[in-house]
Amino acid sequence: MAQPATATLEHRKVAATSAPPPRRVFVIDDDPVMLLSCRRILEKDGYEVETCSGGVEGIRRIEEVRPELLLVDLKMPELDGMQVIERVRAVDPEIVIAVITGYATIATAIDAMQAGAYDFLPKPFTPDELRLIVNRGHERWRLGAESARLRHEKEEAERRFVTFVSHQLQSPLSVVHQYLDVMKRLGSAEAESKRAEWLDRCLERTSQLQALIRDWLTLSRIESGSMARSDEPVDVRDIVPEVVAGCEPMATAANVRLISETGARACPVLADRTALHVLIENLVVNGIKYNRPKGTVTVSLKIHGNEIELSVADTGIGISEKHLEFLFHEFFRAHSEAGDDVPGTGLGLAICKRIAAELGGTIEVSSAEGSGTTFRVLLPLVTQSAQEAIPAGAV
Ligand code: ADP
Repeated sequence: MAQPATATLEHRKVAATSAPPPRRVFVIDDDPVMLLSCRRILEKDGYEVETCSGGVEGIRRIEEVRPELLLVDLKMPELDGMQVIERVRAVDPEIVIAVITGYATIATAIDAMQAGAYDFLPKPFTPDELRLIVNRGHERWRLGAESARLRHEKEEAERRFVTFVSHQLQSPLSVVHQYLDVMKRLGSAEAESKRAEWLDRCLERTSQLQALIRDWLTLSRIESGSMARSDEPVDVRDIVPEVVAGCEPMATAANVRLISETGARACPVLADRTALHVLIENLVVNGIKYNRPKGTVTVSLKIHGNEIELSVADTGIGISEKHLEFLFHEFFRAHSEAGDDVPGTGLGLAICKRIAAELGGTIEVSSAEGSGTTFRVLLPLVTQSAQEAIPAGAV
């Protein structure tokens, strides 16, 4: 049997420039006229084309060059198209395959698609039909590669996140372990004098752990979609007093005054009650934590067109401009005049941002270092028709 003719992809080594990556097509067909016309049409459109007249040699080259797209004739003497598809998929399942077939073999083309080819091109075809199939195949490959890249990035981010959280969990635990260990080894008289102080430190660390686990669970519940959204409208005016009442003891202890200005108009949003509560509470708690004695935290509600603006403004220590862009990142904690003594997990604002986004809204911050910070949350107001569906007296 004559050796199959191969015309190679010549420009595979792409210089490391910003030029777009090559768009490579490999064609296997035992008809040399077909190979020539595919090459002419596709090269004119900027594709790099390699052709081969036999399946065995074609697969060998595909293993080397890994083109994005393969066009293969179904009827060939040496190795038919179905066998080529099977072997190419084993070599690289990402290669997009289209089959070329005569009218009489449409049924086989369907079999080929079931075997993993994405499309077929009946012979004879026009240049435009060929371009359509090849351009579509390339787009499919590009989307596949893009989603593989995003999947990989997401997995990497998850891996880093898990490593970081494990570290955050481990450090307070090690501190508690050390205190307990030392208490056990010390003589009873020495241990007795330190016991109260060390137990307090252990309690402080275990509270940190609890807060971290609680926030982490909240974050993963929002991510899994099992929190935040709801088909039932809830009036934000009802949530604000609940949050303010719950934060009152903390504010009193810090000598901070809580003020709410919720207005007379109903503010219905499609949200889970608990998620809204968590969102507002995180902002109010921060307003208290990062405040000064005799300071205030003001929670207000306004309606602008189809949006509700919830703002939480404090007269606290403020945030330096260089920290603002990182504020909503997981685990970010700004070092401020309050030092690291203020307890926290660095997850509160990340949670607020996710909840706001899940509800179709946004959150933004403005701050002046030394004089205070304001967080503004914009949420879509429930439309008139949805509001009519609310049971009487609900809002
Ligand atoms: P944390 O648990 O540390 O409070 P958050 O995600 O709620 O975590 O906030 C991240 C960081 O943003 C805080 O550590 C703090 O430095 C800063 N921050 C948040 N809210 C305020 C505020 N109202 N005033 C000043 N700084 C704030």
